[in-house]
Amino acid sequence: MRSGWRRIGLPLLLFALGAALAVFALRQARDGVRLLPPLELTEPAPWFLDWRLARLDRSRALCDEVLRPPSIVATSIADRPLQNGCGWLNAVRTTEVAGARLSLAVLGCSMAAATALWMMHVVQPAAERHLGARVTALRHLGSYSCRNIAGSTWLGDMRSEHATANAVDIAGFTLAGGRQVSVLRHWPGDTAEARFLREVHAGACRYFRLVLGPDYNAAHRDHFHFDRGTFTTCR
Ligand SMILES: [Zn+2]
Repeated sequence: MRSGWRRIGLPLLLFALGAALAVFALRQARDGVRLLPPLELTEPAPWFLDWRLARLDRSRALCDEVLRPPSIVATSIADRPLQNGCGWLNAVRTTEVAGARLSLAVLGCSMAAATALWMMHVVQPAAERHLGARVTALRHLGSYSCRNIAGSTWLGDMRSEHATANAVDIAGFTLAGGRQVSVLRHWPGDTAEARFLREVHAGACRYFRLVLGPDYNAAHRDHFHFDRGTFTTCR
């Protein structure tokens, strides 16, 4: 009898412990926002970054708490619930990131936070190192656009991340003093501008889930596409 209990009791005890641990872990994951402090944009490599960025899109209060000057100047805008795959939730209007002008009427909260992280910890240091000046403005080709994925035949019928304001296309940078750096003109070659562009393209992969540049395809010869959608790649 005693050895029988030992045979069944121990696995049973281990199973109960395992189940209790699993429930605890799931609750921690669900309540994670309360356990982890809000994302700090001044920190270059926050823990659980991808997951903490994703949480921003689901909580207006958390978004307002995280998107603060001087990292970013952004104001929340009214939702436009999805219709036919297009619209946005919990988006912001941006005017400035890391001291540089960025005028976007609609950008998803996690995208805004990722853009601020990229500007502060990648773009501004790279601009000073390669070009001796800080970026004062970003030139873009838009964020929200109700359309399908461009420049791809096999994904042609899928909505672009732009259709939910979850993407931005960056075409160039204006530096203090007025010097211009353009993805289209400066990507090829081995100039200081080209080295700057390559570094900020590679550095974007730390904060965005999908990064595409001129080497990816002809549709991206004049801009970097950044998004925080389902797919993740760095090309
Ligand atoms: Zn794009």
